Amino acid sequence: LFITFEGPEGAGKTTQVTRLAERLGGLGHDVVVTREPGGTKGGEAIRTALLDPQADWSPLAELLMMNAARDVHLREVVLPALAAGKTVISDRFCDSTRAYQGGGGGMDQDFLMQVEKAVCTRMPDLTFIFDLPVAAGLSRADGRGARDRFEQKGDAYHEAVRAAFQKIADQETRAEQIFAGGDIEDVEKAVWAVLEERLPD
Ligand code: C5P
Ligand code: MG
Repeated sequence: LFITFEGPEGAGKTTQVTRLAERLGGLGHDVVVTREPGGTKGGEAIRTALLDPQADWSPLAELLMMNAARDVHLREVVLPALAAGKTVISDRFCDSTRAYQGGGGGMDQDFLMQVEKAVCTRMPDLTFIFDLPVAAGLSRADGRGARDRFEQKGDAYHEAVRAAFQKIADQETRAEQIFAGGDIEDVEKAVWAVLEERLPD
């Protein structure tokens, strides 16, 4: 079982990833929690380079770097774990590239989808798309510390990211939108309700 969490800054994905992992673990799932960009040694190095507020990566460079990290992550972490019968929960995956480098960065859609086709050879069984107003997310993110390179971009960028995530939630049957502006317990309940409805057993 492959589950991904997607959404904008300050949506609380990481908290919910942890909670869902504990809950599924309690039901006997052998759970692997991972994240993108990152999840491998090389991937974490790419993450550090990408988030550096002083770096000047172009949208194309971002697209290629995100996918370089993702290719290794998928091959080295996700696919082996799934093959071993584990449940993998990833904090971001291919949809973040559609939203950030596509929606926010304006990369050419056809090219982006060609790269996705080459890299994302195993799509998630279930994707949670967290949604909340841009200002609410950014102020939560600010509470965690200095803004990374993406968080520093303007409101128009973040609105485009949000719209792209909403489009994915509308278009993909594997994706379910979750209102992430409420408190942690309510979001957890919403996530669990979807999981029970989608994956009964
Ligand atoms: O999930 P987290 O907020 O830790 O992600 C790190 C940063 O990487 C975020 O600020 C996000 O905006 C950015 N990112 C991105 N494109 C992706 C994945 C992540 O811009 N494909
Ligand atoms: Mg962030």
